[in-house]
Amino acid sequence: MFKTGKRKEMFSKRDGSVGAEIIVQDLVWILASLAPKDPKFANKVRTLGCVRTMHLIFKGHYTDNKLIFPLLVILKQLAKNSVTTAILIRDGVVTTYERVLVSLGFMPTARLRLCLDAIDYFSKNKVCCMQIVKTGLCSVLLRVFDRWDRYEGRIRLKICAHILRTLQHLCNIKAGRRSLCTKKHVQTLHRFCSQCPDEPEFDGLLARVCSVITLCLKHQALPVPASSPALFNLNPILKGTNTTWPCHEDDEDGANSDSKTINSDLEDDGPDPELDLEATDEYSDLDLNDGDKLESTEGEVEKSHRLKSDSIQSAMFFNPNERDIEDLKRYFCFFKEFGSYNKQVRLVKSRSNSRESILKDFLQCQINKNGLSSLNLSLTPECDSIFPIMAGPLQSSTLFQTCNKINESTSTSSCSFLKIHKDLSKFSSFALVYCTIASRVRSVIPFVKVAFPDMIGGQGLAHPEPLNKMERSACRVKLLSCVDRAISPEAYMNEVVYDLDQLNSLAGVSDNSAPKSTESIFLSNTDEEEITKLNNFSTRLSFESRFESGNLRKAIQIGPREYELILMPDVNSTKRHQWFYFEVRNMIQGRPYVFNIVNCEKSDSQFNFGMKPVMYSVKEAVLGRPGWVRAGTDICYYRNSYHYASPRSHNKCYLTVTFNIEFPHTNDVVYLAYHFPFTYSMMMTKLWQRSLQLPPNAYLRAEPLCYSLNNNEVPLLTISADDTPTNPIADREIIFLTARVHPGESNASWVMDGTLSCLLGDTDVAASLRAKYVFKIVPMLNVEGVINGCHRCGLTNEDLNRRWSKPSPVLHPSIYHTKGLIEYLVRVWKKPPLVYCDYHGHSRKKNVFFYGCAGAESWCGSDRNVPDEPVKYLMLPALMHRISPAFALGSCSFRVERERESTARVTVWRHLGVTRSYTMEATFCGFDRGPFKGFHLNTQHLQSVGSDFCEALNGLNDTATSDDIQLTKDLNGNITEISLNGEAVNSAIAVDSEPGSGSDSVLRTDSDEDFD
Ligand SMILES: [Zn+2]
Repeated sequence: MFKTGKRKEMFSKRDGSVGAEIIVQDLVWILASLAPKDPKFANKVRTLGCVRTMHLIFKGHYTDNKLIFPLLVILKQLAKNSVTTAILIRDGVVTTYERVLVSLGFMPTARLRLCLDAIDYFSKNKVCCMQIVKTGLCSVLLRVFDRWDRYEGRIRLKICAHILRTLQHLCNIKAGRRSLCTKKHVQTLHRFCSQCPDEPEFDGLLARVCSVITLCLKHQALPVPASSPALFNLNPILKGTNTTWPCHEDDEDGANSDSKTINSDLEDDGPDPELDLEATDEYSDLDLNDGDKLESTEGEVEKSHRLKSDSIQSAMFFNPNERDIEDLKRYFCFFKEFGSYNKQVRLVKSRSNSRESILKDFLQCQINKNGLSSLNLSLTPECDSIFPIMAGPLQSSTLFQTCNKINESTSTSSCSFLKIHKDLSKFSSFALVYCTIASRVRSVIPFVKVAFPDMIGGQGLAHPEPLNKMERSACRVKLLSCVDRAISPEAYMNEVVYDLDQLNSLAGVSDNSAPKSTESIFLSNTDEEEITKLNNFSTRLSFESRFESGNLRKAIQIGPREYELILMPDVNSTKRHQWFYFEVRNMIQGRPYVFNIVNCEKSDSQFNFGMKPVMYSVKEAVLGRPGWVRAGTDICYYRNSYHYASPRSHNKCYLTVTFNIEFPHTNDVVYLAYHFPFTYSMMMTKLWQRSLQLPPNAYLRAEPLCYSLNNNEVPLLTISADDTPTNPIADREIIFLTARVHPGESNASWVMDGTLSCLLGDTDVAASLRAKYVFKIVPMLNVEGVINGCHRCGLTNEDLNRRWSKPSPVLHPSIYHTKGLIEYLVRVWKKPPLVYCDYHGHSRKKNVFFYGCAGAESWCGSDRNVPDEPVKYLMLPALMHRISPAFALGSCSFRVERERESTARVTVWRHLGVTRSYTMEATFCGFDRGPFKGFHLNTQHLQSVGSDFCEALNGLNDTATSDDIQLTKDLNGNITEISLNGEAVNSAIAVDSEPGSGSDSVLRTDSDEDFD
């Protein structure tokens, strides 16, 4: 190509001459055939300085029938590149395109399509959007769109898709929304909604039109105050400490990053992968890479910035502020099974051949500090005074008492030292114990009752339940009614039937600084009596959620049997809505009620991929069929027109999950939830029950590890077999398990329940496990979150699984002390846990799987340089693959990502050197592989996973070599085959997910917080 100067000269001198015209024609055709094939085309045109020249030729020839087509091809390639786009826009390309469009005359030709395609690309630029509005191109586009029904076949879909995408881009700017929001334009768009053919390939377009309409209409605020009705005053806790809250701005964290493409099932199998429904404020993520030089230099700058911040972060991660060893030694009182303090000292001494035992200086130090005359440190009252922080914000004497009760012998003391279990009768029913315990729990919003399902154990019915099949036409109807309601809200009912904010203010609850009277109220449940009362025929449902883990904030009746529901954000937060749990009554049997939960935040949900919510009917339970069941039809998930509360994200709208429920009985009391609830009180009740029925020789100790910020106990469980001379407890390996750091992941608690019932069971496997190991278990890391119906956080509005590298003893006591226990084992007891596993729930993927840590797959170069021992971290997944039918080996990942450095899994692996450090993820939804393929998951599956995990632990041995376990990876980097002990394991079922559930593999790369 020539230099611009020369070229211009050529044109000015020879313009009009026939010879030059022919040369130009030939050149344009040659370039047009090169352009689509050369990924660096735009880049080359720009380096040669010919971008404006191309525009000049385009301007001069768009009416030329011979040249218009190749010119459109070339311009489209230039439009794909963000830098050449910017040059062209400055050069007035939008005006040119407006003229081209008018001259093309709206005929459905390839030219029109090319033209719209380029505009679609250009409109990713906000300056371009401004120009589209100013030049009136916007109206031209809508005129083309209005003729959609005159086009046919694929070109019709393409034309509509390009225009709608451009309109979505326009919605990113205020002027764009204003220009679209005229009566005429909204009518045009709405006409498409009501007339477009009822065929699957139009679903994507329909969803896009609806999104444009809801985006350009004036966004409404949710009809609730911005802040949560659940407010917890942290000042009394922070007083006198130098801790500040919030630790850092959490606004931009992964929890709400909504920056990925939405793949709605509406179009999951659609013909055109381009027809995806990306939300319009997210186009920055669409790929604009054309191998452009400028972009790559920008990329390098960015990279070097990243490297710099990497090293800062590395410094933070790799040189964590280790706890002072003296401070750590105080955790000895949580390891009473190893004997008294003196005995622990002796044992460590005898294990380490070193003459200077680490504990020796501790003793010396204590003598100096406290003037203790002797070394009599055997768990005496000093225990309390040397560890005041363990008692949490309100000093408790429990620990003191606990310490006093324990003597040197560990042989017989198997019981609970939890305050919440105090004075419970051995002979009470589960329900009575549950109510007593629930009444002792401190909540942020006062509770009025206990929920019936939790009170009687909350199991799911064990029959197989197929995954939901998306009903296209039903979803269309829902989507359209959402748009209709946004266009004309006055046509709908608007009766508030439940309002937690109001109930709260009536109850005079402001914050926790006022003394609480809740502890004196005995919480119970009268649902059973109420369903026998005479029917009262009300025209509306009534709601309640003031019970443990409940979180309905507002219910608004918008139609005879349709309700809009708003969920409560996490405590002290304005966001993180996903989990839900509430009660409904006054229903009529056999008629569909529509529930729309309108403040969901995740850009996609398993509700679009087969998941149904769960329902519990009290009448069914009374009739002898107690249990949670999957329920609901016409389920779908889409964006609505309620904008976010935070002023910074006013342009961002919430999503709706909608489902219809036909209740099994009239005048029933029914509970609806996101997943099978598992409350704090349920955990404590089940623990109480188990502590009463221990098998022979089993050792169980339940004690408070610390107190939560609202002064509830965080229990620590120790499970093993009694100490014997032939099998001394101090010689056993330690397994450390934790669960429920994320309160919305109740599935994690059900898996833990399975683990506990296996470990405390009267079976050979259980006896063998207890004899082999000492289990240290913190079954609920985030008790406050669970109690108060939070989804992701606790009382501090922080994700506790992002606080492991530097937990605060004041704000994150459960993390601080759990980490402290593991650190004690590693640095004082000198015996790291054999396995650490943190149980979670996963809302995007199906099945059950692990995340582990492989140095070779770390983001950090220094990890990759250290040789790994894959046999160590692969053996447990391989065993699970053999044992557990719910387990999907192919979904496991051993990547160590930078943004996961402060999770339990990575911190325990990196800081504390535990090779087998895992997150176990259990789906909320169901299975797409194995024997349960196509079915929902229930509580029995989850419990089995928990016991299967125990069985896998039982099979763990350290003698296997890397020859025994081999893995191969498929093209996607998924593990597909493992041979264990030289024996090939069937790899056919190890494939992650079949093509039909492609969404999951697309979402796999998402930096969503669901990864632990
Ligand atoms: Zn989680």
